[in-house]
Amino acid sequence: MTLTKQTQLIHDSKHDSTYQSANQPLYYSSTYRQTKLGGNAHYDYARSGNPNRENLETKLAQLENAKHGFAFNSGITAITAVFLTLKSGDHVILPDDVYGGTFRLTEQILSKFNISFTTVNAEKPSEIERAIQPNTQLIYIETPSNPLFKITDIRAIVNIARRHQLRVAVDNTFMTPLGQQPLDLGADIVIHSATKFLSGHSDVIAGAVVTNDDVIAESLYLIQNGTGTALSVYDSWTLTQHLKTLDVRFKQSVASATKIQTFLAEHPAVAEVYYPGNSDTHLQQAHHGGAVLGFRLIDETKAQQFVDALSIPLVSVSLGGVETILSHPNTMSHAAIPQDIRESRGITFGLFRLSVGLENVNDLISDLDHALKEVYDESIIKHIEAQSSSG
Ligand SMILES: *Cc1c(COP(=O)(O)O)cnc(C)c1O
Repeated sequence: MTLTKQTQLIHDSKHDSTYQSANQPLYYSSTYRQTKLGGNAHYDYARSGNPNRENLETKLAQLENAKHGFAFNSGITAITAVFLTLKSGDHVILPDDVYGGTFRLTEQILSKFNISFTTVNAEKPSEIERAIQPNTQLIYIETPSNPLFKITDIRAIVNIARRHQLRVAVDNTFMTPLGQQPLDLGADIVIHSATKFLSGHSDVIAGAVVTNDDVIAESLYLIQNGTGTALSVYDSWTLTQHLKTLDVRFKQSVASATKIQTFLAEHPAVAEVYYPGNSDTHLQQAHHGGAVLGFRLIDETKAQQFVDALSIPLVSVSLGGVETILSHPNTMSHAAIPQDIRESRGITFGLFRLSVGLENVNDLISDLDHALKEVYDESIIKHIEAQSSSG
């Protein structure tokens, strides 16, 4: 019998045979007794392996239909581990709107070790193909991207990679393994910031990498153990607990996000809405539009008043929590990009990103409606004035 992911998520792969506890016990131990000298005990030292991390990694692999799963102490160490499978002299192609921390990692750290990177508009597979060099090893993509929710066609990239014998890694954080399964579409490696939806409670910082490739898996294990970047025992246990509700959490957030994006798209104070569910390419490779959207106010000077008038969302960085999180890319995640580049990429002062949580959707819509009214009347007048003066 093939179980659905919803069911798999609930049950641990190993049970407590001593006390029959419902949850796997927390094995808070750095080392394990060795009863026979030179024997091979299943666990010896917790950095190299422990029951709680193994239980979690089994689940992470199951979720992405993968053979191998690895849990790291953050999303960015998961990404680092994938890049460390490369060697000096290798070249990587990645999107120009890749997650800021990934860009910093490549630009400021990995480039010192003679790994080179080319950034391209990943919405256009032809640009990716054109960027391939003799030493290219990896195409790294992130779809939907952030904060403008651009979509990369995973199948098209996989086809290019196969023709040139390159590997494809996908940062699947925004869709979760329930919304999009890049390995099934031919990708070689999938990465998650498990800090986001997988954890879902704005507490744990964690990352995951999964693959079906035995050679990549061996290399990832060497890096995980050899650099000591695995997820801690306690966080592995907590994340396993949080994963049990991933399906029900994500379903509700997606349903609410769909309603909220319709509400925003029709609102006169909103100039634009960005939602993956509106892209055909996205819907051909994912089950739905996800639970995060972007929108731009018609009057950018009112961004602060809008935020001040909101009462429900957490105004902060991050996403994927039970609480709705409103982010302001211009002053938060993308603040380090020089202002002219930021503006030219559309990351203006009136742009917001909303990660929809588990509050009642009508409460969320009322709150947004109330806050948008704070800026609505005047912005309409200004808009009309601007139009009449330009016309
Ligand atoms: C947050 C995030 C990361 C980094 O993950 P951390 O857990 O914060 O280290 C990587 N990629 C994406 C798309 C993210 O949103």
